[in-house]
Amino acid sequence: MSRMTIRNIYCVGRNYRLHALELGNEVPTSPMIFTKPTHALAAMDGGDIRIPKDQGEVHFELEIVLHVSDQYESGMKPEQAIDSFTLGLDLTLRDVQSKLKEKGLPWLPAKGFKQSATLGTWQPFTSVDQMNNSEFILMRNGEVAQLGHPNDMIFSIEQLLGFIDSNYGLGAGDLIYTGTPAGVASLEVGDKLEALWNGEIIGSCIIC
Ligand code: ZN
Repeated sequence: MSRMTIRNIYCVGRNYRLHALELGNEVPTSPMIFTKPTHALAAMDGGDIRIPKDQGEVHFELEIVLHVSDQYESGMKPEQAIDSFTLGLDLTLRDVQSKLKEKGLPWLPAKGFKQSATLGTWQPFTSVDQMNNSEFILMRNGEVAQLGHPNDMIFSIEQLLGFIDSNYGLGAGDLIYTGTPAGVASLEVGDKLEALWNGEIIGSCIIC
């Protein structure tokens, strides 16, 4: 990651049915995209991730993160545009977000704080098929907190690439947080989080 220049950070909201429902949201009929500042990035390298303490609950959302390596052209296969992926946390100030949603305000204060976009170790992206046959897990203090299967995404990787490109543009250096499965919950200081891809730990951190 240190050698990569990250440009835009796109995130997909409500891309897993059971997660949309657990927060009382409708299942969307087109992709719901928001962004984070690049200053939100933080490595899940075993070290500390600092969360805000005075703004209510901070929820974890473990997500597959795609790294776009080439200028996207309409109709491209994901394998042509994406060179690597990892797991990362889309940390969310949930109480703040609920108030913003009530008022119809943008989500930046809930989603864009520093260290709210964590990244594990990059893995080569070989194919969508291989990804769809995988599973990912968030362990909190040694217990399974979230278990996801990429083929449960409401909007596929191919659909997300096309949608984001046609509306906002997509090119080398962009990241896409592809949405979280069910099981999100509030973090506590001292929590140890581990992100597992097919049983292998590819990112970890301590919440402080
Ligand atoms: Zn998310």
